[in-house]
Parts: sequence; structure tokens; C-alpha cells
Amino acid sequence: MRVWIEAALGLIFPAARPPRPWPRLERPFCERCAEPFPRPVADSFVCANCRDREWSLSRLRAAYLERGSVREAILGFKYRRQFHLRPWLGRWLEDGFRRHYATERWDALVPVPLHPERRSQRGFNQSAEIASWAGKRVGVPVVEALCRVKATSPQARLSRAERLRNLRGSLAMGRGFDPQGRRLVICDDVFTTGATADACARILRRAGAEEVVALTVARR
Ligand SMILES: [Zn+2]
Repeated sequence: MRVWIEAALGLIFPAARPPRPWPRLERPFCERCAEPFPRPVADSFVCANCRDREWSLSRLRAAYLERGSVREAILGFKYRRQFHLRPWLGRWLEDGFRRHYATERWDALVPVPLHPERRSQRGFNQSAEIASWAGKRVGVPVVEALCRVKATSPQARLSRAERLRNLRGSLAMGRGFDPQGRRLVICDDVFTTGATADACARILRRAGAEEVVALTVARR
């Protein structure tokens, strides 16, 4: 209940001065994982990490790098329940969508799911909240197509190998959505290695999705 009161207050009294997002994620970067590259590169450039890695996602993109006010806003929204930040995070995700994906047709935005236990502790799923804000503005429906079937320990302090182990078997298709032939955008607040978004993509691709990409507010 408190969550919704705070969310409503956030709509009525949005942050007086919006946090200024900085810096944007822009080319040159790896075509697959968007790792920024210091020198100009061809549009088809793929970083060394991605060359030896099997991805289910065809691309990962973010609106910003996870620094300064962007990092503060993400943490404030997720862990300190600062609901007035939701519209800003939603707008930043919308900005990322417009810059990276708007020229293509997408069937749905799919938020990264939270385990029901964590969702009830936190009171909301930050990815779904941000995606629903952005989805309305870019005219793409938001579908909570995936669910967590196993609680995982928080990914933040784990290495990539540990993240993969942690994720194995933790995600599944939810009910009521058939991804067959669909083009989908996985949405989250932030990505580090992309392991979580890629695990989501693997489930959706196995269930028949035509293409799955990822979009986050920020990239570490
Ligand atoms: Zn890469």
C-alpha cells in the first residue's frame, strides 16, 4: 500500500530538479555488448569478450553509463524506494529506446523478473516499473513474460562464472504469453555482464522468439 502512495506522490510531486543524466552511451562501442571503445571502430566491431561468448541476445544497449547521477537514481529507486525517480528512469529508458531501437518493429518490452519473495520484500519490480513508463511513451506493450522459479543471491558481487551458475534454472516462461515469432526487448535498470538479460533471452528464444535484444537505463 505504502508503495502505491509513494508512487502516486512521485507522480504528483516529481523531483523538483530532475537528476541530470550523464554520460550517454554512444558509439564507438561493441556491436553486441555495447562496451565503449576508446577509438573509432567499424559499426560491425565486436569486442574480444563477445567473440568467445555465445549470446542468445543479439544486442545489448543502454541509455547511459552507470556513473554519477544515473547510478544514484538507480540505487535510490531500487533500494531506498525513492519513487519520485521512476518517471526520470522511465524517461531515460525511453531515450535509450529511441536512440538504439526505434527504427525497428518490436512486439513487446519484457522486464527482467524478480523472484516473488524479493518482489514482496521490495514491494515492486523496478524493471517492470521503469519499462511500463517507457513502454507507454514509445507505444510498445510491456509483457511480464518471464518468472523466477528459484531465488538467486544478488548478482552484484559475483564474477561472470558465478553469475551464470547462480542463474542456471532460475528463470522460466510465465503463463499467457507466446513468444513464437516475436521480436522482444528485455528491459532492466542496469546491466554489468549481461548474464541476466541473456539468460532471459535464452528462455524466450527457446520458446520461439524471433529476436531478443536488451535495453537498460545504464551500463556498468
Ligand atoms: Zn562486446
